[in-house]
Amino acid sequence: MKLPIYMDCHATTPVDPGVLEAMLPFLREHFGNAASRTHSFGWVAEEAVDRARVQVAELLGGEAREVVFTCGATESIFLGLCGAARARREHGAHVITTAIEHKAVLGSCAWLETQGFEVTTVGVDRRGIVDPDEIRAALRPDTVLVAVMAANNEIGTLQPLAEIGALCRARGAVFHSDAAQAAGKVSLDVGEIGCGLMSLSAHKLYGPAGIGALFIAPGVTLAPLLHGGAQERGLRPGTVPVALAVGFAAAAEVARREMAREAQRLTAYCDRFLRRLRRARPDLKVNGTLEARLPGYLNLRFPGIQAEDLLATVPELMLATGAACASGGAGPSPVLRALGLSAEEVAESIRISLGRFTTEAELDVVLERLTAAIARLESA
Ligand SMILES: *Cc1c(COP(=O)(O)O)cnc(C)c1O
Repeated sequence: MKLPIYMDCHATTPVDPGVLEAMLPFLREHFGNAASRTHSFGWVAEEAVDRARVQVAELLGGEAREVVFTCGATESIFLGLCGAARARREHGAHVITTAIEHKAVLGSCAWLETQGFEVTTVGVDRRGIVDPDEIRAALRPDTVLVAVMAANNEIGTLQPLAEIGALCRARGAVFHSDAAQAAGKVSLDVGEIGCGLMSLSAHKLYGPAGIGALFIAPGVTLAPLLHGGAQERGLRPGTVPVALAVGFAAAAEVARREMAREAQRLTAYCDRFLRRLRRARPDLKVNGTLEARLPGYLNLRFPGIQAEDLLATVPELMLATGAACASGGAGPSPVLRALGLSAEEVAESIRISLGRFTTEAELDVVLERLTAAIARLESA
């Protein structure tokens, strides 16, 4: 068995070998600038970016003209939320979001507050799911924007997007969904969801880091936040990284092709792993719900065992206690706290995510080493 074993696909995923193959020609011979109009290097690059835009749009059930490439989901989210809020300022200054959003959303909302917007934060239930009725109750005539993520990055729970989308549509609020975790893992259709904006990141779906996308539905206008170029409809000025766009698109294609099969496999692996872990540790608790979540995502709690100690005992297992971007002394995970867990319970929680390249043999090793480590900590 090759160590270490990577089980932190919430944080990032390895680039799929097919994706890398698709990218290489655009780093070697086809290195042109997609905005060069006077020679074939430019045309080849432009055509590749156009094709990439179609493929990324297809992953969401959208149209190529509705996709703007950015450097990642954080940028897409900031552009989407702040761009839409500012463009709709005269309609009102109220924004709704949830307590379990990624830092990128919460940070954008905090920035909007400094710009005079009022933000209402809706909670979640014990499973980590937003009640659409709470969104309904929070909607006001001056609500311009609602931000609810598609799937959470710590517990993997999926949200009732279509219901929320319908509410927003009826009330004239723009609905943004952060789909950085969900895209490529469960099927998403922007039309069915009724979202005006959706944010994506390539490195969460076996594509390269450094590129993301913002889906913008027809009729949703954004005030640009960056100025200095006409690329990406003037919303994202700067030279488009062609190889990254090609890699993102290739990753979207693989995801679309493999999604159903992969979900089935990861769910089966996960079920078996949990069954065996439960047998070894009957006190095991699952944070969130197993009912509506991304395949292969687990957030577990071993009562009486400090997660930090546990992870330190098994450095050969790449696991995490919470969001990568919140790690490093940010205090107990706000996501787990929002589920109603106490600070002590949060400190006992770890997240494990299986990915495309996870094998059953790896899971066997994780099971064995984790249970041995827990037993060691208990007897210490
Ligand atoms: C990773 C992640 C982001 C940020 O994406 P980057 O491309 O790394 O900026 C935003 N939201 C969620 C839910 C994520 O998991």
